[in-house]
Amino acid sequence: MSTPKIVILGAGYGGLMSAKGLQKELNYNEAEITLVSNHSYHYITTKLHEPAAGTSHHDHARIPVQSVINTKRVKFVQDRVTAIKTNEKAVHLESGKTLAYDYLVVGIGSAPETFGIKGLLENAFFIRNIDGVRVLREHMEYSFAKYQTEKKDDLITIVVGGCGFTGIEYVGELVDRMPSLCREYDIPLEKVRIVNVEAAPTVLPGFDKDLVDYAVKYLESKGVEFLLSTPIEECTEQGVMLKGGQEIKAATVVWTGGVRGNKMVEEAGIETMRGRVKVDEFLHAPGFDNVFILGDSSLVFPADGERPYPPTAQMATQQGQALAKNLSAKIRGREMKPFKYEAKGTVASLGSKEAIGMVGNRKLMGGSASFMKKIIDMRWLFLLGGISLVIRKGKF
Ligand code: FAD
Ligand code: NAD
Repeated sequence: MSTPKIVILGAGYGGLMSAKGLQKELNYNEAEITLVSNHSYHYITTKLHEPAAGTSHHDHARIPVQSVINTKRVKFVQDRVTAIKTNEKAVHLESGKTLAYDYLVVGIGSAPETFGIKGLLENAFFIRNIDGVRVLREHMEYSFAKYQTEKKDDLITIVVGGCGFTGIEYVGELVDRMPSLCREYDIPLEKVRIVNVEAAPTVLPGFDKDLVDYAVKYLESKGVEFLLSTPIEECTEQGVMLKGGQEIKAATVVWTGGVRGNKMVEEAGIETMRGRVKVDEFLHAPGFDNVFILGDSSLVFPADGERPYPPTAQMATQQGQALAKNLSAKIRGREMKPFKYEAKGTVASLGSKEAIGMVGNRKLMGGSASFMKKIIDMRWLFLLGGISLVIRKGKF
C-alpha cells in the first residue's frame, strides 16, 4: 500500500496542533503530511484585539508557520483553499493546483456571523485576521487625524457591535489606546465616544455576574458607554441604526457580534448546523471516516448538554492534540479514543493591566486575572515553539 496522504487545512490552533502532533507521532515513512494555509504565518487570533486597537504591533500577533513546524516532516503549502471535494478526495487551491488526500483535517476557522444585518459586510470592520485588523487600526487613526480639520464628532466615535468576549476585549484595548491617540491628534480625551452595543440585556451574556459587573464598572470608569437590549439593525456608511430607530453616527463601526463556521465546509456537501459541523466523538464529519473537522468549524456537545461548547482556541488546541494521536492510531490500525474536552476556564483581558476570569470555581479580576491571561498566552507560544518562542515573543 502507498504511504497515506494527510492534508491539513489551516494553520490556526487546530491545524497547527494537528501538524505538530502528527510530525511527532508518525515516522517519516508512515504518512505524507501537508499543511495548507493562506498566509505564510500563523496569527494568534486570541491577541488580535491588540493590533486592532493599536496597542501592539501586528507582528506580535503572528509567527511564520515554517518556524514552528518540522519542514522535513510536514510540507507547508501557502495557498488559499477554494473548494473541498470529498467525492474526489481532493482539495482545490487558488493557484489552480489540486491536492489529493487519504485523510483530510479541516481547521479553517470561522467567519463573522452577521445574521443578515444590512450593510454590515460592506461598512463594518472585523477582528478576524492580520489583514483586517491592520486596516481597522489605520482607518481609526486616519479618522482621528481628520478631526481637527473637519471637526465632525462622528470621526472620533467608535461603535462596537456585540458585548461578547471579543467586543469587551477590544473595548478594553481601545480604552488603553485613547490617551496616546488623542495626544497625537490634539483631541480632548473626553470628546471621544466608545459605544459598545449589545442585543441581550447584559454584557457577556451567560458569564458570571460579579465578573461582568467588574468589567462594566471598570470600562465605564474609562468612558465606555454600554447600550444593552439594543440590537443593531443596520450598518451604513454613516454609522449604525438601532432597534427603535435611533442612529449613532460613527466613522468606525466594528462588528463583534459572533462567528459561524467557514462556508467552504458547507459547500463541500458536509452536513452543518448554522455553518458548523456536529462532529462525532472522533471528530469525524458525519458520513466521512477520513474527514476530520476541528476548531471553529466544528460543534462539540457536552455529554449531558444541549448547548454546544463555545468555539474557542482552547477547544481547537485540544482537538488538534487529540486528532494527532487518533489519526496516528488509525494509520497504524489501532483503536482511536473518544475526544473529551476539558474546559480549563475563561480569562478575558480589559486592556494590558486589567482582566476578568473564571478558572475552575475561582473568580479572578484585576491584576491577578491579567497575569493569568498573560500566562495563557505564553502557554500557546510554548506549545508552538517551546521556551525559545516564549522568550522571543512573550510579553508581560
Ligand atoms: P483559526 O485560529 O481561525 O485558524 C484558521 C486558519 O485557517 C488560519 O490560519 C487561516 O489563515 C486559515 N484559513 C482560513 N481560510 C482558509 C482558506 N480558504 N485556505 C487556506 N487557509 C485558510 N479563544 C480562547 O480560547 N481564548 C481566548 O482568549 C480567545 N480570545 C480571542 C480574541 C479574539 C479577538 C478573537 C477574535 C477570538 C478569540 N478566541 C479566543 C477564539 C479563538 O481565537 C478561536 O476559537 C480560534 O482561533 C479557532 O481556532 P481554529 O483553529 O478553528 O481557527
Ligand atoms: P459571541 O457570540 O460570544 O458574542 C457576540 C455578542 O454579540 C453576543 O453577546 C450577542 O448577543 C451580540 N449580538 C448579536 N447580534 C447583535 C446585534 N444585532 N446587535 C448587538 N449585539 C448583537 O462572539 P465573540 O465575542 O466574537 O466570541 C466568539 C467566540 O470566541 C466565543 O466562543 C468566545 O468565547 C470566544 N472568545 C473567547 C475569548 C476569551 O476567552 N478571552 C475572547 C474572545 C472570543
